[in-house]
Amino acid sequence: MATEQATPYAELCRYLGQTATLGSVSALAHWDQETYMPPRAAAGRATQASAMATLLHERMTSPRLGELLDACERAALADHSPEAANVRDARRDYIKATKLPPELVAELAETASRSQEVWKKAREASDFAQFQPWLERMIDLSRRKAECLAADGGTAPDGELYDALLDEYEPRATARDIEKVFAPLRDRLSTFVAELLDSGSEPDDAPISVNAPSAGQHELGHRVLRAMGFDLSAGRLDTTTHPFCTGIGPGDVRLTTRYRENRFTDALYGTMHEGGHGLYEQGLPTSDAEGEPDPLFGTPLAQSVSLGIHESQSRMWENFVGRGRAFWAWLKPIADETLGATKQSDAEALYRASNRVERSFIRVEADEATYNLHVMLRFELERALIRGDLAVADLPGAWNERFEALIGAKVPDDTHGCLQDVHWSFGLLGYFPTYTLGNLYAAQFFEAIKEQTPDLDDRIAGGDFSAVLAWNREHIHAHGRRYTAADLCERATGSTLSAEPLMRHLEGKLRPVYGLD
Ligand code: ZN
Repeated sequence: MATEQATPYAELCRYLGQTATLGSVSALAHWDQETYMPPRAAAGRATQASAMATLLHERMTSPRLGELLDACERAALADHSPEAANVRDARRDYIKATKLPPELVAELAETASRSQEVWKKAREASDFAQFQPWLERMIDLSRRKAECLAADGGTAPDGELYDALLDEYEPRATARDIEKVFAPLRDRLSTFVAELLDSGSEPDDAPISVNAPSAGQHELGHRVLRAMGFDLSAGRLDTTTHPFCTGIGPGDVRLTTRYRENRFTDALYGTMHEGGHGLYEQGLPTSDAEGEPDPLFGTPLAQSVSLGIHESQSRMWENFVGRGRAFWAWLKPIADETLGATKQSDAEALYRASNRVERSFIRVEADEATYNLHVMLRFELERALIRGDLAVADLPGAWNERFEALIGAKVPDDTHGCLQDVHWSFGLLGYFPTYTLGNLYAAQFFEAIKEQTPDLDDRIAGGDFSAVLAWNREHIHAHGRRYTAADLCERATGSTLSAEPLMRHLEGKLRPVYGLD
């Protein structure tokens, strides 16, 4: 290795790769904590996590990294080349990492962990007053964080502090952009959901409410993942309390799920969801076919572009493929073989049961249509909290009032209302909109796939999902962070993000299921 001849760009990639290698050790420890770690290892693991976080932060803010970036920028890489994009985003990350004072980072981490503990108790007791002072502190700290990030031409181009927080999850998006897409969707969706629920012909969920032992569900999950194209020689599926996907490092993507024995579709769709995230992670250029690390590993070109795009990958498999009629035609005999209990129903009944819409209070239990209303409610409220238009003390009232207007039900208590999600308790503000952005991107991408593959349904019914994966590999996965999420969408589909494809998808599927056509 003649390092003295390495270009600044190669040096930069090597530096970022080493940082990512340390990060992957952290990710592995975190995965273990969520799956197999014995309880008494918790304190030791927290020490390990904090030691690694310090080490990583030092590397991400080091003067050495600043020098490498300077040298790359002087080297005048060709405009619009992948290399130039890589340096551009590496610089962006560096600026953001160095903008936050270490004291603020430490205070946020400390307060977040205590606030989360208080939130757990408050949620259980449905006692908002207990949580209120902690949420006030978290909002205040988040605002201070946003002020740092927004300073000196930072990540709040419209001058709205919320944007600097949103940028952590959906880089370069603004609240104004999101509002533009959400606003036309909100009223249409709210009216549509009411129309479905008032139709009086809801599908019977008995076909999926059958007893199915975990072992059979585990086998079914593996069969589905293999068919989706998830490489199980470069990944695993395990069980956990809160399902997630983590791209650990080259050749290693871990998925987790949980089994509910009287409703197998929870784990089925949970596994497809995490599998979609996993396919994105496996499609990024982090390693070669043998698992040897790619020189781009750890650089922006080998990272996902945004949480919204990441979520588009999971929602596409879960809702657009998995809740489709063609999918059930394929799955039915496999479900009969692995679960047995589905034998009493035909594929059509299973398809209908998996597309039931309900006025649920809890976001994570919501169906494909109402889910987005839950997200819009949170987006509006958290934006108002950061702007200072809504006081924390007024949150429960504002929540309940808005919920009733959007979803049409009276919230019984704060456990079923503003205390249900963990996000705000540890400072995840600006995160919620990425869930609905994911649904919107998924709808728009899936329309492009269908247009390119007119016989897609026949292929899916025959267990051939390769057209879905191939399109995403080519248009999304291969690019890492080369383009912004908005540009990626426009390049891949020919149009900017719109609410239309999602509405077309939901109306096209659910109206017939509810006998409205
Ligand atoms: Zn997800």
